[in-house]
Amino acid sequence: METDIAANIIKIRQRIAAAAVRCGRDAHSIKLMAVTKTVSPEHISQAINAGITMFGENYVQEAKEKITALGKQAKWHMIGHLQNNKAKYAVNLFDYVHSVDRNDLAQEIDKRARLAGHKMNILIEVNVSGERTKSGVSANDALDLIKRLAPLENISVRGLMTMAPYSDNPEISRPYFSVLRNLRNAISREQIPGIQIEELSMGMTDDFEVAIEEGATIVRIGRAIFGQRK
Ligand SMILES: *Cc1c(COP(=O)(O)O)cnc(C)c1O
Repeated sequence: METDIAANIIKIRQRIAAAAVRCGRDAHSIKLMAVTKTVSPEHISQAINAGITMFGENYVQEAKEKITALGKQAKWHMIGHLQNNKAKYAVNLFDYVHSVDRNDLAQEIDKRARLAGHKMNILIEVNVSGERTKSGVSANDALDLIKRLAPLENISVRGLMTMAPYSDNPEISRPYFSVLRNLRNAISREQIPGIQIEELSMGMTDDFEVAIEEGATIVRIGRAIFGQRK
């Protein structure tokens, strides 16, 4: 059976609104990103028609094909691991890179954004769980990294991103999301010149409601919109 993408989006928006009400937040403060790795341009078009304006991709090459096919009808965010040598493509394709977790990558994005004549929005990916298989700077090193990036003129550090450990119980994710929120608040209190971090990119199909309760401003949802990936 065909996945009804438009109906799924309506359901997700209702769940976002309900989660916001539960924790006394304004639902408008939560942005819904549709994650489109392996999803065809036809299906992405259906999501655009259903009102989605923000998409997340994991691979530069795959994203390039879709962005070329669909034009700039939406904003595209890079959420997958980014190699330094792909930064030059990323600055022209994406509005945000969520996966900046090291100084040399940030330096390269800054340089390429300067050459492209614009400023790039980035989020710092934090490996809150400490799992060795995950990308991300450790929670302990995040502040130092951000301080080093503050002088760079062609990147704008807008927030933090994380992935909780895989689990089918969303409550397992809660403490990791809460650590990310506290980290953002602590970094904000440092009042680093040039740094205004507000965004918390956290929560996926299995745990986005808990993420909202813990302060997510961007939830990244794939399967609940497009169905199981092949
Ligand atoms: C695939 C992916 C998602 C979406 O995951 P779903 O479980 O399909 O909602 C979100 N964030 C990142 C970084 C991903 O790679």
